[in-house]
Amino acid sequence: MSYLDLTIKEMHEALVNKKVTPLELTKEAIARAKSDNNNAFETILEDEALAIAKELKEPEVDNLFWGIPIGIKDNFSTKGILTTGSSEILKDYVPVFNATVVEKLLKAHAIPIAKTTLDELAMGGTGTTGHKGMTFNPYDEKHELLVGGSSCGSAAMVANSIAPFALGSDTGDSVRKPASYAGLVGFKPTWGRISRFGLFPFAPSLDHVGFFTRSVEDSAIALSLLAGRDLNDATSSIKPVEDYASNINDSIKGKRIAVIKEVIDSLNDEQIKKAFLASIEALEKQGAIIDYVSFSLKLLEAIYPTYMVISCAEATSNNANLDGVKFGPRYEGNTYQEVMIKARTNGFSELIRRRFIIGSFALMRENQNDLFLRAQKARRLIVNRVNEILSNHDIIYVPAAPTTAPKINASSDRLSDNYLIADNILVLGNFAGLPSITLPIALINNMPLGGNLMGRAFEEKLVFNVAKALENEMGLYNLSARKVK
Ligand code: GLN
Repeated sequence: MSYLDLTIKEMHEALVNKKVTPLELTKEAIARAKSDNNNAFETILEDEALAIAKELKEPEVDNLFWGIPIGIKDNFSTKGILTTGSSEILKDYVPVFNATVVEKLLKAHAIPIAKTTLDELAMGGTGTTGHKGMTFNPYDEKHELLVGGSSCGSAAMVANSIAPFALGSDTGDSVRKPASYAGLVGFKPTWGRISRFGLFPFAPSLDHVGFFTRSVEDSAIALSLLAGRDLNDATSSIKPVEDYASNINDSIKGKRIAVIKEVIDSLNDEQIKKAFLASIEALEKQGAIIDYVSFSLKLLEAIYPTYMVISCAEATSNNANLDGVKFGPRYEGNTYQEVMIKARTNGFSELIRRRFIIGSFALMRENQNDLFLRAQKARRLIVNRVNEILSNHDIIYVPAAPTTAPKINASSDRLSDNYLIADNILVLGNFAGLPSITLPIALINNMPLGGNLMGRAFEEKLVFNVAKALENEMGLYNLSARKVK
């Protein structure tokens, strides 16, 4: 056993009891990062991490992040450190400031070990579209399976016990879906609960800071550090920050949990269905009351197209500054249009260009009513139904994915219910901006599967509490690809 295989809470105890030092942890994390062959890293921060670790002498008993190795998705600005968004256009970009969450982690004396790979500019869900190529699932040595995205490198890093925590961002499901494929706890809070200052914007009405850990309690501990009002982000909430881990072990007896019938019906893999139903029984065993509720198929099938129109429209507008003038390499050209066209054509992969075309099309004056505004209305109807369910339930519980980690290049029928509903259901959490957590509920042929719990706005404590009860009952705690292999 290595101390690096522990959760944040356990590692903290080992640090406080001086069984291990930050420098020892850092050296081992760097060694593991260097020998990792999953393409999880844009930049390994060897010198920076060792410099921080060497300064850390006296453990801080009440500061759980003191001396803990961490990963940072490469769409969070890091001062003086390359931040690429895994995009060719930003391959040389070095920010002059830190994202607020990075600043908070550094102030707590966490030790960034690496900037992690992502799907280019956080668009995509496969972990295959970054400028450095595919990121693989550490559970599969043959490198045939996806780890999922867009926060692929952070997921691979935590799943391979290179760090017990890594930052991700979640616009559709980019933390909570890879968490399912990689046996992790993946969390995003209420919209506005964590400052997004310094996170590259993708679709700000949907963007959230999220993170990966290997236990539910670690996730609650991390939120307690990262939540809070930030004057640099006007959308950050003024609500007081709570100690999110304090009631985590409370009984969940009598808590009402809604399970959406149509989501279960849309699953076409019997093993997944069985595993999910078993986890529902586990919640019942812990005293929760399960209700099967209905959600109109029309609305469920509208999630994906609605998400594509809104997210692509926002992305097109937000990324207009990546033009080879303000950001990105400067090309030769006779007109500024020529300069920009060259920079953007060479700087973005096909997926990004396709999304900007969809976004521009939806925003054209003649299409706005039919596409952009219609999508906003569909979003409202979907969110109304979610809130209606949550008006008499504490939690909505769904499978975090309709399959375990898919094969790279496996084609999915994008018009099937399995895809339209079960594969996109986590987007509900972004449409409504609600706290949402994925945690492992089964291992199927040695590959993990997650369940996802979503609660009311700013009720993250309750979400953690129910997640902890489920984690206890399923016994899938601190999973790591190193142990399963
Ligand atoms: N898979 C979604 C997409 O393709 C989610 C991306 C995200 O959450 N950043 O956009």
